[in-house]
Amino acid sequence: MRLDTEERPYIVIWEVTRACQLVCTHCRADAQHRRSPLELDTDEGRSLLDHIAAYGPPRPIVVLTGGDPLSRPDLVDLVAHGTEAGLSMALSPSVTPLLTREALSDLRAAGAKAVSLSLDGAAAATHDGFRGVPGVFDATIDAARTVRELGFRLQINTTVTAGNVHELPAILRHVLEFDATLWSVFFLVPTGRGSTVDALSATESEEVIHWLHDIAGLVPTKATEAPHYRRIAIQRARVDDVDAAFPVGPLRRQLREQTNMLVGDRPPRRSGPRPPLDVNAGRGFAFVDHHGLVYPSGFLPLSAGSVREQSFSYFYRSSPLLQSLRRPDDFGGRCGRCDFREVCGGSRSHAFGVTGDPLAEDPNCAYQPVGVS
Ligand code: SF4
Repeated sequence: MRLDTEERPYIVIWEVTRACQLVCTHCRADAQHRRSPLELDTDEGRSLLDHIAAYGPPRPIVVLTGGDPLSRPDLVDLVAHGTEAGLSMALSPSVTPLLTREALSDLRAAGAKAVSLSLDGAAAATHDGFRGVPGVFDATIDAARTVRELGFRLQINTTVTAGNVHELPAILRHVLEFDATLWSVFFLVPTGRGSTVDALSATESEEVIHWLHDIAGLVPTKATEAPHYRRIAIQRARVDDVDAAFPVGPLRRQLREQTNMLVGDRPPRRSGPRPPLDVNAGRGFAFVDHHGLVYPSGFLPLSAGSVREQSFSYFYRSSPLLQSLRRPDDFGGRCGRCDFREVCGGSRSHAFGVTGDPLAEDPNCAYQPVGVS
């Protein structure tokens, strides 16, 4: 990380709307069918992008998300404006009838560089069950191919739960077929509609993260809201025999066997796993909601204030909330005395979702620190 994350984020996610035609079971935004009249309008959106661009190089990556960003008729205008201001613009659209080849072509022409699509199951039954609408799985496969044909970088996002964890190797096969740039596996935070879906236990999460590291030579992987991926990557790099140091449990064994069966002897496309990016809520990462409120993360519903009152950079740098999230020595429980707290720090969203305290220990991590008092 070359950035001073006290000063500026590496990534800003802007939720341009909460309107969406899907009804996903784990939706962070509790998406609605209609756009809110209080959304940031086009001029306010352009102004937000100008403020982010004013950081100068290296400027943050800006991801336009929702709801469904394509619900906004000014989306191409916003992408073009951000691109002209020098920002690297990415999109996270929902797969609905609005996601046409023509819409994607217009966004590509406006300068968008990357698109992320959600794939939460390896087949229609699971994926469409998550999304709440039949036919979305087939449309997602088509959309992924179109995204690649148009020259976008493609990121696949998968929310892992107790209900779909065994499908991960089969989802991986799709990710490889798409030639995706990045596979982001999201460890469910109890917020929005996700609060009613089964999250993995800390031990299961540990197993899945090890498996993600096992297959990271095939496609770069990211564990969203599980920053202990960085702790595990470091721990693995310190030993000669990973399986001896971190015995393979039943879940990881099953994932491995299925992976061998489904993607078999496919050669690694990378020389080794890419180190996970060192960002966390409020530290290199920030979220702006559809009304302009700034948050450390889309999964940590504590706002620093509105960009209608102060600039984004003011809140990022000066908000007591965001500043506290950049001080891992002050975290509670195991995270505060963990030898990996500077590179990991735990998911602040999991801590808040389970305990109500964003500085508490991350309950989704199984590590028992050797301790630095
Ligand atoms: S105890 Fe906290 S800081 Fe340490 S590895 Fe686990 S989540 Fe990260």
